[in-house]
Amino acid sequence: MGLDPDCLFCKIARREIPSEVVHEDGTMLAFRDINPQAPTHILIIPKCHVPTLNDLEEQHQTLIGRMFLLAAQLAADEGIAQTGYRCVFNCMGGAGQSVFHIHMHLLGGRPLHWPPG
Ligand code: 5GP
Ligand code: ZN
Repeated sequence: MGLDPDCLFCKIARREIPSEVVHEDGTMLAFRDINPQAPTHILIIPKCHVPTLNDLEEQHQTLIGRMFLLAAQLAADEGIAQTGYRCVFNCMGGAGQSVFHIHMHLLGGRPLHWPPG
């Protein structure tokens, strides 16, 4: 899967829609959520368009691993590595997915309760 011309996060990845980018490399972009749910709320996306976790294929293994490594790096940068943080993928509407381009939420900077609800 490449780019979807109508996808919000593909547009953010192409810099057609502005966002507060905290990391960019050849395959990924990380930017601050427009409606933050915690003092740190960063979205980590692959630049390639994959709608949901259900659409992942064998070829995406490295990409998903890189998303977690980047989350840990950004958590350290944000000063929340030791206080604690949460990495969340919502999959499908029933789980709260509203943008159908996979993204990891990196949340921290306040106590996070469990279960999330
Ligand atoms: P989901 O509900 O799909 O798991 O998460 C989508 C996230 O994208 C939400 O937390 C929402 O606030 C964020 N979001 C939606 N539109 C934009 C936007 O235009 N810019 C940024 N930075 N975040 C967005
Ligand atoms: Zn997309």
